[in-house]
Amino acid sequence: MSCTICRLPFVLDPRSPTECIDIISSPIPEHVLPQGTLTKHQYAYFATGIYIGTRIRGLVRKMVFIASNVTTRHRMETKTAFQWETSGGTLFMMHVTCADFLRLVFDAKDTNAKSLARVCQIEEVVGKVQGGANAGWLPLVRYEAVGEKVDLAPFWSHQSDSPSMGSNVFDWTRLKTSKYKWLLNRPDAFPKFAAEVDAKRLPWGNDFEVGEGDMLSHRPLELLCLLLPYLPPRSYTMLASTSRLFRYHALTIFQPHARDLVIALRWAIPTQREYEIASEDVRSIMASEDAKLSPVEGDWFGYLSKVHRSKGMRVRRWILSVCEEVKRVYDERLPGSPYAMTPGGGRTDIAQKLEEKVGMMLRTLPE
Ligand SMILES: [Zn+2]
Repeated sequence: MSCTICRLPFVLDPRSPTECIDIISSPIPEHVLPQGTLTKHQYAYFATGIYIGTRIRGLVRKMVFIASNVTTRHRMETKTAFQWETSGGTLFMMHVTCADFLRLVFDAKDTNAKSLARVCQIEEVVGKVQGGANAGWLPLVRYEAVGEKVDLAPFWSHQSDSPSMGSNVFDWTRLKTSKYKWLLNRPDAFPKFAAEVDAKRLPWGNDFEVGEGDMLSHRPLELLCLLLPYLPPRSYTMLASTSRLFRYHALTIFQPHARDLVIALRWAIPTQREYEIASEDVRSIMASEDAKLSPVEGDWFGYLSKVHRSKGMRVRRWILSVCEEVKRVYDERLPGSPYAMTPGGGRTDIAQKLEEKVGMMLRTLPE
């Protein structure tokens, strides 16, 4: 059971279904993780999936796997279960952060028919999510060529003569001892954002002096300001560490610049959904694009540095790069697809029908 975006697996829901499930099945032993493979926190992340599409009622629906190849809604009282893989491929399912970023990249954050039709259209344009040895993965997407060039295909094994579908197995032990072990970090655990700069971080005081060898500090402020737009985030933080005066500016008057850099990264701040579901305590230390929630003069410079050191944020950055790759394939194929704009700039009948179908499903969604 593999995520269509990051190609990391889903794990079985830790809760046992007490209700009658329509499809009777047991997990294969390889899908039951030995104790200690993941922490409780990690397990919870990998156990939750988001289904996107019109094949089953739900459009964007939180799901769990209750057995190999058997998925059901997150609410365990729901009795309907679905097969993840069938002879036509698999359902379009991804981890929660992967789904968030896919919607972000496809400008489909809103829950309305137009927005959701856009994400439901991905499979129609890019191609159905594949089955067999490539179960769960989109065709044409160069998963291993983007971002940090992570190739997870060798970690999956597939028995072609296996009687049941959805039986691909992921080698967690190998991942934990490989160069990709950082992928185990949850991408939704954010560094702390400080609404005020900690006084201890400010390098000036009564004894603050510009060092003789500090070349940058002898340049006019205007010149430093001219430099800022040309510095990528990592270079900016590194440069600030070479000069006391630059660091002083970075912690004070350049904070809005650090904020712009953080926001432009896209992966470095919580999505609106992540912000909304967080507890009040967690929210109070989360960075937000909304200046009323996270002041512009807060310690954005410190936050910028933290997100580049956080392993979870590294995973997050990589997930965004895969979503952008899906969008690249989508944009490339759209003009030749039945969903291309008409010569008059309108939408085709098939695109309109999909939006109508999504709209109808949306109106009848259970709460
Ligand atoms: Zn994923």
